[in-house]
Amino acid sequence: INDSLGHAAGDELLMGVAGRLRSSVRAGWETRQSVVARLGGDEFAILLGDVRDEADAGMVAQRILDGLASPFNLDGHQVFATVSVGIALSSPGDSPEDLLHNADTAMYNAKAAGKARFAVFDQGMRERAVARLEIETGLRKAIDARELVLYYQPELSVSSQRVIGYEALVRWNHPERGILPPSEFIPIAEESELIVHVGRWVLNEACRQMAEWDKEFVFDPPLTISVNVAPRQLNDASLVEDVKRVLRETGLDPKRLKLEVTEGSIMQDPEMALATLRRLKLMNIGLEIDDFGTGYSSLSYLQKLPFDTVKIDRSFIRELGVCPESSEIVRTIVNLARSLDMGVVAEGVETKDQFETVNTLGCGYVQGYYFARPASAENAEALMRERDNLRRAFVVLQGTDGRSPAPRRGDQIAKPPANRAPETALVRI
Ligand code: C2E
Ligand code: MG
Ligand code: MG
Repeated sequence: INDSLGHAAGDELLMGVAGRLRSSVRAGWETRQSVVARLGGDEFAILLGDVRDEADAGMVAQRILDGLASPFNLDGHQVFATVSVGIALSSPGDSPEDLLHNADTAMYNAKAAGKARFAVFDQGMRERAVARLEIETGLRKAIDARELVLYYQPELSVSSQRVIGYEALVRWNHPERGILPPSEFIPIAEESELIVHVGRWVLNEACRQMAEWDKEFVFDPPLTISVNVAPRQLNDASLVEDVKRVLRETGLDPKRLKLEVTEGSIMQDPEMALATLRRLKLMNIGLEIDDFGTGYSSLSYLQKLPFDTVKIDRSFIRELGVCPESSEIVRTIVNLARSLDMGVVAEGVETKDQFETVNTLGCGYVQGYYFARPASAENAEALMRERDNLRRAFVVLQGTDGRSPAPRRGDQIAKPPANRAPETALVRI
């Protein structure tokens, strides 16, 4: 408000809020010994006397939220002030600082749960806050300490039954706790700028790895590499520059890089997301909507956005054969994607039945434990090498009758080993 309507309007809003806080407190029995104060910036604190329990404090908090629900009139503009309220009850031995600190912790919990809410402090919040802080400080160091690693999970084409690319999935090789899954640290990183640093590392490493595999193996058609992009990254001006730089540095063809974004990150700031996605599309980067069906997205935006692929969330795939509606949902998403000229990946395919069902429903691509779990670069590479060796052996066998097989579309060409004639490296699988 300071930026848009000026400081005088900002001051007026603060006074307006203070007035409503005072009357919310004054309206109840707790008036005695209560104090309303502004701590600074846009933070207020209220010390309530005569509060018996959480419920009492909660009633006041609700009255405050209700009192602030109607807009303020600032210089002819209607302005809403949404607030988050944290409540802490004092126990014997608490210092004033403890009390304020606990109320602060509760306020952050209220804020994280959504706007215009209140939350009451409990000890668990403190423990979680400490655990988060540990993760956050540890993660800041993890990038430089080379503790982050990428795992790779293949995406397959249903029609050719072949791997078309890999999704890069980050893990944290924690010095004390071992390999941590992204659910343990990505949500925490996403609360701050930290995710931009983690995301940049992932983007660099995934492209570097793919470029390295290119040197070692020849894939025909070339494999793609999918990288997850967090909401904050999509709304960060540096994303497009980062992508340009990494492509320049690795020499990777932009068509081989795919970025995965969720509906939620698009809807946070649809205009900004649209602009960024269009710039990426102009560079020929592949764009995928991840976890489709779990978030909220506006169909009108979906139509405007330059996506190539929809990844159906694994919750729908899991329900196939269990809940009859889920196959209708998958069918509907496939039809929607088709009419928007997008490909469809079924995520989380774990069984043969699920694979057959998604195939019948028209999904062109699949990813899931049924085919492969995410694996470290070394393990993914070992599989590539094994396949390559098998192919080479096959070619050598074929080559014994003096005829080498004619190349066909879709053939995979393995790089010839240094000590063998190049034609022996042509393979068909
Ligand atoms: P996602 O992008 O939807 O990734 C797919 C997740 O599903 C992966 O979990 C993968 O291991 C899991 N999965 C694949 N197939 C199956 C299956 O058949 N069954 C089951 N139950 N699960 C399957 P993971 O690696 O734990 O990643 C979880 C989420 O963490 C990802 O979901 C993504 O949202 C996020 N994430 C992972 N890496 C990154 C990253 O580098 N950056 C960002 N921003 N987020 C990441
Ligand atoms: Mg993904
Ligand atoms: Mg997903």
